[in-house]
Amino acid sequence: MRPRIYIKSIALHLLGETHKCLKLKPSHMLDFTLTPEQEALRQKARKFALTEILPVIHYFDENDQMPVYLLRKAFETGLNNLCIPKEYGGHGYGLIEAALVVEEIAAAAPDIGTSIFGNDLGVEPVVMCDNAAVKEKYLRDIAASPKIVSFATSEPGMGSDVAGIRCKATKDGEDYILNGSKYWITNGGYADYCSVFATTEPKDRHKGICAFLVDMKWAGVKTGQHIPKMGQRCSNTVLVKFTNCRVPAENVLAPEGGEGFKLAMKTFARTRPIIGAFAVGAARSAMEFAIEYAKKRRAFGQPLSEFQALQFKIAEMYQKVETSRLLTWKAAWEADTGKDPTIAASMAKFYTTESAGEVVNDALQIFAGYGYTTNFPIEKLLRDVRVLTIYEGTSQVQRIVVSRHALNEYKAIMPSLEDLPSLTADDPKVAAQKGMNKNQKVWRCRICGQIHYGDEPPEECPVCGFPKSVFKQVWPK
Ligand SMILES: Cc1cc2nc3c(=O)[nH]c(=O)nc-3n(C[C@H](O)[C@H](O)[C@H](O)COP(=O)(O)OP(=O)(O)OC[C@H]3O[C@@H](n4cnc5c(N)ncnc54)[C@H](O)[C@@H]3O)c2cc1C
Repeated sequence: MRPRIYIKSIALHLLGETHKCLKLKPSHMLDFTLTPEQEALRQKARKFALTEILPVIHYFDENDQMPVYLLRKAFETGLNNLCIPKEYGGHGYGLIEAALVVEEIAAAAPDIGTSIFGNDLGVEPVVMCDNAAVKEKYLRDIAASPKIVSFATSEPGMGSDVAGIRCKATKDGEDYILNGSKYWITNGGYADYCSVFATTEPKDRHKGICAFLVDMKWAGVKTGQHIPKMGQRCSNTVLVKFTNCRVPAENVLAPEGGEGFKLAMKTFARTRPIIGAFAVGAARSAMEFAIEYAKKRRAFGQPLSEFQALQFKIAEMYQKVETSRLLTWKAAWEADTGKDPTIAASMAKFYTTESAGEVVNDALQIFAGYGYTTNFPIEKLLRDVRVLTIYEGTSQVQRIVVSRHALNEYKAIMPSLEDLPSLTADDPKVAAQKGMNKNQKVWRCRICGQIHYGDEPPEECPVCGFPKSVFKQVWPK
């Protein structure tokens, strides 16, 4: 399905019909309209969330258990493995479609969202690798029958620092032998396959990282007990341990030399926008529940919703849901239109997940005591959204990615502060009024911005006191 989220510019909207004269191609326009197919997919996911997930989620959360049958049903309904291309029998959806599906599922249960979308996280490295044979064999198999696929970069001793992987891949002829542990592996206890990132030499950092598709039935693969968690209790999370596990050469997704690290980063650039969709879904539900509760619950002789303090809180919650969806869709649209979504994905990840935490927490405040009980869904949403700022790269990691881009790659539109025009010098009329001729030299202090007129700069800046050398001649140019 062709990804479609055009964002029609406000300017063109204001110009009305004139855009027709401008002969802009549709792809240059901006428009949030979903295609009928996208809307149908959203409705299908919504129905699944409301009829299959919502009625049972409280039970499984209380029992700290993953309802594996729901993953199978999601497969049968066509709501997982969204990214497998059609040529391998998959849905061939873009990230916009994935965001639509995941928002609906996370609105009912973020932890079930984690487990259903966990398959896409595990499958993405296979879709993006250069190994045609592994794609043909495994993508076709995963698309054809319900299979659970995990993704493993994290280890007991590292998470954020992906170049610091210690799980060892030792070459043996053309094959590799895996030894080491992977931790926090979503669905690992039930997985058929796992995209595993390991290193040929820990000292080589990024360059040592390689990736493999591991069949979890192979000798030398063992999983630990379910890790008990604060939230996301319906999502299975375990240790996966490799002891002399032989990986045949045909299952290499990325060789050492930096390719494995790149594959992990490319995967995150596509999956982080979808964590944004988790955040939107969870925050949306919390907001809806809070609105209903605020209208029904009374205090001081009136509904809570009559208090302006709560009305303003609800306005901010709504705003955060909408802005989060915009950022999520923008990052997904970048991926679907062939741009590098890395920066938009990181921006979306830390904004949406932190906002979701605030929205759900505000919803609990509106519910107050009742929100703190396990009888209402807010406390589960709060427990579940807490991890969103942690997994698939913490908020701090996203800030590193975005600040590095802003400081080193972002291209400024404004001239440098040192080169800002001087009105007196640049405007001949003003210059004439000041008695300046066109050769009058103008100097700018690079420390405080003070302008000085004269053949030479002053010995020191009269404003900030820095010496003559800090002045830059700004006129004549
Ligand atoms: C429920 C759940 C499911 C998960 N599923 C998976 C999965 O399926 N596959 C998988 O591979 N992993 C998975 N993870 C692991 C997850 O990706 C990691 O927990 C995450 O990347 C953070 O790593 P860490 O916990 O080791 O924290 P650390 O890397 O030890 O970081 C600790 C703290 O230090 C901060 N920090 C670290 N480095 C810097 C820095 N340079 N500057 C500033 N701050 C820094 C971090 O932001 C964090 O606040 C899962 C985790 C959870 C909780």
